[in-house]
Amino acid sequence: MRRVSLTGFRVGHCRHPQAMAIRGGRWAPVDFPALAFLILHPEEGAILFDTGYDPAFWQATEPFPERLYRWTTPPVLHAGEALADQIAVRGIAPGEVRHLILSHFHADHMAGTHRFPNATIHAARAGFEALCRGSRLSSVRRGMLRALVPPGFDRRVRWFEDAAPVALPADLTPFTEGADLLGDGSLLAVPLPGHCPGHWGLVLRDEAGLHFLVADAAWFSEAIRTDTPPPWPTMRLLGDAAATRATLHDLHCLHRRNPDIRLTPSHCAECAERL
Ligand SMILES: [Zn+2]
Repeated sequence: MRRVSLTGFRVGHCRHPQAMAIRGGRWAPVDFPALAFLILHPEEGAILFDTGYDPAFWQATEPFPERLYRWTTPPVLHAGEALADQIAVRGIAPGEVRHLILSHFHADHMAGTHRFPNATIHAARAGFEALCRGSRLSSVRRGMLRALVPPGFDRRVRWFEDAAPVALPADLTPFTEGADLLGDGSLLAVPLPGHCPGHWGLVLRDEAGLHFLVADAAWFSEAIRTDTPPPWPTMRLLGDAAATRATLHDLHCLHRRNPDIRLTPSHCAECAERL
């Protein structure tokens, strides 16, 4: 695989009892950071994986029924913490970002999409169809806010499902096939079914080896290490409980076979510490 470099950012957070996200967890509230990633590619330059929260989240959740989202999952985003602001500090203007890869269409992963007007957006068609399906209330209940889809999205999007399928490196067994997003083997999107329709992760290789960004296929690294899913009430809220369980188990098997491969969930406080 073509080598790239990767930098992670904490882009807002919310707090929930740990026990809602992992069986046997504590009832005290813990931080769920929203992580987003900057990938530097030798030819394509700045590429993002997810955006985390953005001030647009608060605009999108001003009216009802969208305001219900803000009430049930109140996030915190400090001044200057939006991804566009954090990469600007590193000398990358938001307009320079050439590609934005969205793991899925939940608001905490794509709220900042509008800040990157020149990026080709890579996302799952199945996720976008789910976002557009049913009433606004049903979208909100599934964690999605249609107002966060920027104008011109249709012209800028490239679907994961249409990208060239490729075999993944054998080290990633039991994951065997991905989608080659740029056509050069550097960024391979991998379906991680269960969390919601059209939920994908991203495999890349940086100076430290293979790195698998697993989005919300697990909320904690500990859940992957110990193969511990969320409790049933939370599983029932997710898109497909059986698929969620199977995907977590596959990640656990990968970790057991190859503990050197970094598996990074998007809301893992332990991973945020490492960034
Ligand atoms: Zn999430």
